[in-house]
Amino acid sequence: MNQDEWIPKTELGRKVKAGEITDIEEILLRGIPIREPEIVDTLLPELSNRENQEIIDINLVQRMTDSGRRVKFNVICAIGNKNGIVGLGQSKANEVGTAIRKSLNNAKMNLILVKRGCGSWECGCGSPHSIPFRVTGKSSSVTVTLFPAPRGLGLAIGNVGKKIIRLAGIKDIWSRSFGQTQTTINFAKAIFESLKNTNKVSYQDRHVKYLGIIDGMIREPIKKEEAEKEEMEKKDIEKEEKEKKGIEEKEMEIKEGETSG
Ligand SMILES: [Zn+2]
Repeated sequence: MNQDEWIPKTELGRKVKAGEITDIEEILLRGIPIREPEIVDTLLPELSNRENQEIIDINLVQRMTDSGRRVKFNVICAIGNKNGIVGLGQSKANEVGTAIRKSLNNAKMNLILVKRGCGSWECGCGSPHSIPFRVTGKSSSVTVTLFPAPRGLGLAIGNVGKKIIRLAGIKDIWSRSFGQTQTTINFAKAIFESLKNTNKVSYQDRHVKYLGIIDGMIREPIKKEEAEKEEMEKKDIEKEEKEKKGIEEKEMEIKEGETSG
């Protein structure tokens, strides 16, 4: 949808369109309900990209009516910026395309911030590639527990879990689940709940650095700092190499001098 054509229906929508609120995290932290997908389209436009969306499940729901058999599509999907923000959506419609679109919009109105970190005692690197602590989520009969995992392990969880957790920007995780995990919707919801629960674990200030806790997005300044650090390191290496080369060249000259003389 064209942003210019958007006529906000809520106070939050009006403020976002007017440019008074520009930070999606502020909205999520304050727990203000998002009732218009255009709010997210404006503040987090990358969520409309294909690589930031996953269809988790498409279900056919059949129903008998007076006029015969009716079919509806029930779609579950997830969206995420792969940087600490993820959403889960569900919607039904007569057409599969409509159901997908509605489900994606529903996910935009159901975003959460995820705390990342490294709570793995095997790793202890203090960077946010995993989660800072163990979390559990429940939906109906399904219970999922996510555990911090060492760097490089990957996502040790079923496909549904992989899709959602990857979109949150978490790279390494262990998991354990109980109950009817083949019921995709409950499994997806339980994973989503456990990610939500990363915000409910209390910790002390000293743990922030120790566990590398990042609340939501890794912001540009940090990335910039990292880039600067990398640039410095690159220059150091180049300098070292140049010096080495210089020494080697001098040695060559000396050797050449020896052989010619
Ligand atoms: Zn680590």
